[in-house]
Amino acid sequence: MEWTDLKRLDSFIQKTEVLGARVEEIGVSGEGRSLYAITVGNKQAARTVVIVAGCHADEIIGPLAAVSILQSLVQKPFSAVKFGIIPVADPDFLHRNANELPTNVTLRDLLNLKHQRDLEGHFTTDTYPECIAIRQWIQQFGQVDAYLSLHSAHLIAPGLFFYVDSVSDPLCVNQVASRITTVVPDYISLLSRDPTGLSQTVLFPGFFELAIPDVKELNQKNPGSSLAFVAHHFQPQFVGASEMPLAVCPTLSNASLSEIDRCNREFKQTGHTNHPLQEISLNTQLSIMQTLIRSVAQCVAAA
Ligand SMILES: [Zn+2]
Repeated sequence: MEWTDLKRLDSFIQKTEVLGARVEEIGVSGEGRSLYAITVGNKQAARTVVIVAGCHADEIIGPLAAVSILQSLVQKPFSAVKFGIIPVADPDFLHRNANELPTNVTLRDLLNLKHQRDLEGHFTTDTYPECIAIRQWIQQFGQVDAYLSLHSAHLIAPGLFFYVDSVSDPLCVNQVASRITTVVPDYISLLSRDPTGLSQTVLFPGFFELAIPDVKELNQKNPGSSLAFVAHHFQPQFVGASEMPLAVCPTLSNASLSEIDRCNREFKQTGHTNHPLQEISLNTQLSIMQTLIRSVAQCVAAA
């Protein structure tokens, strides 16, 4: 897969239908683009894993990873798990970003993608028609055993981390974290603290816990994420989100958020920074995302 495959996701999705995936249009975007949901795997499977990608349209690894796992699942399904996947939650804004990608995509191009709105942060409200359609689609599942929202940190970061909701089964988180530790290349450190400050609880290196807000506290003014939505409607064993960076920079490991921002701003504007950085190739990002998804599925299948 290549970054520019972002322009061809719909045709990739249609191809998986020929191979046995069920592709439905569950709604249309504000500008009339199709919103697709795909189910893949044995319909009778006892366990269900739901994946939503692209709630932040500039974090393009999410949709690419969702389509790539879809392609791999139609070839090599899990017998005990069926998957429900929304590869592109915000088709209108993803389309704008895809149109701005040049033929040869550089790190600077990726950092400069700018079409983004917060479907994740407003997931439980009626602000975006896409969120309403996705919520209705998720609710038709009798049970959701694991849920993942695929994000990118969309920046040069000190290292890699994932968020895990407090409802998740500790044993399952332990298994996923051990699996991730074995596949992440040495140059990518699994962070020991959340650089954004959102989570104060480190479960394992690179795995930070998020508390789920009480359902009574959620309203139009205080909206909830897709993670909170799924946690409130089901009793999942795993609820989490990826925050895959585009490049890592070990000298930022003790940096404040504003120093990290400064390094990113500098690189976005000039294509240079004094910090030594290492890009994470698209293949490596996809392989880490696939490991995350497969290890979560293995864990719920075994439960
Ligand atoms: Zn995001």
